[in-house]
Amino acid sequence: MSTDIKIDLLETLKGVFGYDHFRGNQEPVIHNLIDGSNTFVIMPTGAGKSMCYQLPALVLDGVAIVISPLIALMKNQVDQLRAFGINARFLNSTLSKSEANKVKKETLEGKVKLLYVAPESLTKEENVEFLRLATISFAAIDEAHCISEWGHDFRPEYRRIKSIIEQLGQIPVIALTATATPKVQMDIQKNLDMDEAVVFKSSFNRTNLYYEVRPKSNTKKQLIQYVKKQKGATGIVYCLSRKKTEEIAELLRVNGISALPYHAGLDANVRIQNQDAFLKDEVSVICATIAFGMGIDKPDVRFIVHYDTPKSIEGYYQETGRAGRDGLPGYCLMFYSLNDINKLEKFNKDKPVTEKENAKLLLDEMVFFAESTLCRRKQLLHYFGEEFGDNCNNCDNCKHPKDKFEAKDQVIIALTTALETEQRFGMNHLIDVVRGSANQYVQSYKHNELSVYGKGKDEDKEYWKSIFRQILILGFLQKDIENYGVLKVSERGKAFLANPDSIMLCVDHKYENIAPEDEEKDEVVKTGGFDEALFKMLKDLRKREADAKDLPPYVIFQDPSLQEMATTYPQSEEELANVSGVGAGKVRKFGTPFIDLIQKYVEDNEIETAADFVVKTSGVRSKNKINIIQMVDKRFFLDEIAEQLGMSIYDLLDELELITNSGTSLNLDYYIEETIDVEKEDDIYDYFLNADTDNIAEAMDELGDGYCSEEEVRLIRMKFMSELAN
Ligand code: ADP
Ligand code: ZN
Repeated sequence: MSTDIKIDLLETLKGVFGYDHFRGNQEPVIHNLIDGSNTFVIMPTGAGKSMCYQLPALVLDGVAIVISPLIALMKNQVDQLRAFGINARFLNSTLSKSEANKVKKETLEGKVKLLYVAPESLTKEENVEFLRLATISFAAIDEAHCISEWGHDFRPEYRRIKSIIEQLGQIPVIALTATATPKVQMDIQKNLDMDEAVVFKSSFNRTNLYYEVRPKSNTKKQLIQYVKKQKGATGIVYCLSRKKTEEIAELLRVNGISALPYHAGLDANVRIQNQDAFLKDEVSVICATIAFGMGIDKPDVRFIVHYDTPKSIEGYYQETGRAGRDGLPGYCLMFYSLNDINKLEKFNKDKPVTEKENAKLLLDEMVFFAESTLCRRKQLLHYFGEEFGDNCNNCDNCKHPKDKFEAKDQVIIALTTALETEQRFGMNHLIDVVRGSANQYVQSYKHNELSVYGKGKDEDKEYWKSIFRQILILGFLQKDIENYGVLKVSERGKAFLANPDSIMLCVDHKYENIAPEDEEKDEVVKTGGFDEALFKMLKDLRKREADAKDLPPYVIFQDPSLQEMATTYPQSEEELANVSGVGAGKVRKFGTPFIDLIQKYVEDNEIETAADFVVKTSGVRSKNKINIIQMVDKRFFLDEIAEQLGMSIYDLLDELELITNSGTSLNLDYYIEETIDVEKEDDIYDYFLNADTDNIAEAMDELGDGYCSEEEVRLIRMKFMSELAN
């Protein structure tokens, strides 16, 4: 390459794009392409891949063909280039016939420098014919991982690109991707017949990103707490479904965080508005499906939350990659549950067999990643074929190391098994041999006769999986990418076997398998895990207060409310009022000594409280609540209210109890006078005044068989609560 061109390149970079320097591998990549060689670029998102073909397109004669799968982004990219004064055009199914013809005409006149083409347009015969007539400088294949079934975004049309490019004559090809495991990389090169291409692979390490995985339990509360900690910084919360994005945005909003949803099902205008609001910092959080973020280049995204477990490491890594592009810290939190994994597996059930199997392998990797206590960064980089030291000190597993154990003997067994089976098998088979399984494969290969057979039978499958995975990531074993899954002993592994030394491996995370319904629970109350010492103190206090006021304790606060207090540690009237079953009335009447006690307790025990918020939910219930209060004020009969609101009388009683229990007085006398006779009313009232519990069944029992109905007892209990407690 002559120095002239070198100077030209820098001048163009500065003159056209306004940048002073090339970044990372850009310069050698560009030189390679201009020299006419096939070029393969693997660069993480945001590193500046587009420049690698945009700049050469400008300095070379002819038109560069850019193949990109995202029709939605094509116009955007072309607009951006045109804003720089570059004549770029696109050809895809959104153009009318005459528009397409105009583009073709301009191209053939040699005016167009970059022509973006959708893969499905590329394969149309008329377009191939047109391209044959054009002078083409090179072909760029963006998002090249789409060519591989082993990637996370397979597009069958991509498979036909090569044969079409071949029809266009001898033109250099540049393939680019932000995610490529070694297997995918090989696939891309094979499919594009680019084995000889020069590969430019940048490190994928994003040193400023913090990775964290948490089990999915009490997720809403954790999410709100996490986002509040970010103090208004911008972030993206990824959800699996459209509906969920809307729910979560709403949840954040009612809890005082500005948030908007984004998904492909939204009205186009709304979608653009929401995206703009995010880009302009008018809203701090966008709750989105993975459709959001592609092509969005906001440098100061501070956090990425995966509210649902993502379906592949590739996707996860690309999405987290949107944080911290400005080089400042970015926080990546993923919620993990096996239940999500199962759900994702179900989505795949109708796919063709190989696709389904690939999807399953991607999910397996996700499970390993989430459950492993190895450095997250090490795991991620290993996944993309990069070796990383032992400890990044910037992930949850490094910050909070879990137990390790001496695994010298296990590693010897694992490596020996790979050797004795002639390095021709994948992990599952090796584990079967180690664990002494008698399945037909083991027998047909006579692996039950090996010295290692059954040596690890005392441990379960998961245990051995973890061992194999870890020594793979540590580089003692290598996955043969030509034969997906076959494990071979590396030089490092052989050295270890020749001279075995102490080796400490990690114990995996043991996430409880959380039941699906628990994941979604709003309340803190029922999840257990409250502070028992505080709970007991609160109960004692309640007893003293009740005695002093000559009231049954439950009139003051009920047990679930105390449990919630012992979970969230409310220390102000406002916080206490947020505890379910409390409400402003009760706070005023009974709150002070409870707040005092909790404050003292928190101080004495140096507790970090989660009490700066309580998950609030919005929606139907609060609307009903207001309706009910208004109708009671207007002295509607309960059966009328129930009918108007389309609920049963028992549902209405439930709602009424919720209202009175949380401290709003309801005067139901007008209804009680009409429906219950005075004597009975007195009996029930007296009963509650002296009872130890407010249990309805017990009340009915005590008051005598058939003496009063459930509705009557509940009504009087409410009257009693309203009068005494609120
Ligand atoms: P990728 O496609 O790799 O995700 P892009 O090509 O969209 O990344 O580039 C990311 C950002 O970096 C863009 O805003 C781009 O303008 C900018 N960029 C590219 N090259 C340079 C450079 N040499 N100097 C400064 N900024 C650059
Ligand atoms: Zn780490």
